[in-house]
Amino acid sequence: MKWTVKIERIDEAGNLHSTTVGHIERPELTSEADLGLTHDDGKYLIRRVQAEVAQDQVHALISKVRSCRCCGHLRSIKEHRRRRIDTVFGHLRIHAPRFEACGCGRPAASSPMAVLFPHRATPELRHLQVRLGCKFSYQQAAGILNEFLPELSCFNHATTRNRVLAVGKAIEAETRAEIAEKPKVEKPVDHMTVGIDGAFVKATRSKNQRKNFEIVLGRIETCGRQEKIFAAVRDLDDLARERVRSALRSAGRGPATNLTVLSDGEDAMRLMAGQWLNGRVEHPFALR
Ligand SMILES: [Zn+2]
Repeated sequence: MKWTVKIERIDEAGNLHSTTVGHIERPELTSEADLGLTHDDGKYLIRRVQAEVAQDQVHALISKVRSCRCCGHLRSIKEHRRRRIDTVFGHLRIHAPRFEACGCGRPAASSPMAVLFPHRATPELRHLQVRLGCKFSYQQAAGILNEFLPELSCFNHATTRNRVLAVGKAIEAETRAEIAEKPKVEKPVDHMTVGIDGAFVKATRSKNQRKNFEIVLGRIETCGRQEKIFAAVRDLDDLARERVRSALRSAGRGPATNLTVLSDGEDAMRLMAGQWLNGRVEHPFALR
């Protein structure tokens, strides 16, 4: 059996544009495997739909930005380029022209597509890569993406690693800025509960890791706010204590917030929690 899949768009003037995005061929139903589309059929179709939708969007944007913002004249195209953008539904090669300077004196800007897509990937795909890259090895994360997303074999561990590291750098910059500024907490919470624990990571004696270290992990709970988690490397990171305090501030801890710390009662952890969290600490559930 055969089908043709079309998408239709109605433009602002009310005109209908119909485009064939693909054809499907499936056998008549004689076994359970014959029912509906296959995974590959789905990937093929969604990739084609994505390409069509994106092309229409790009075309509309280019038409809009081609007019000079100062005088309204249509600028000449200096250079036709293609820019590769990764999306969850396939890799696109979009039209990314550069325009000549306008006669009115407005200088030539860089390609509007380059400005719009500095990361060459949609945020949705980057978030997906980061989420998987945090849970699996970079290699496994790339394998999962290749398995389920259209256009195989284009995701690799290096892209996944780079995107995870980019997010890590952004979080680091944000945390350091918060620590440097220590902004006043707006609407501090009355009470905050922090569960805190530590985990030792043994040295592998490789050139990358020669020392054992301890990671301090915690969960912050406050009434009416989303819970927040934090982690810091205890001895190797000079900013560890400040990171934890920063996490508490951004969760709403003000000078008058009543803080309860839950730990397993281990002496070193109790001591550290007391020092790092600036007093006002209780240990109502010493488990040992
Ligand atoms: Zn102009």
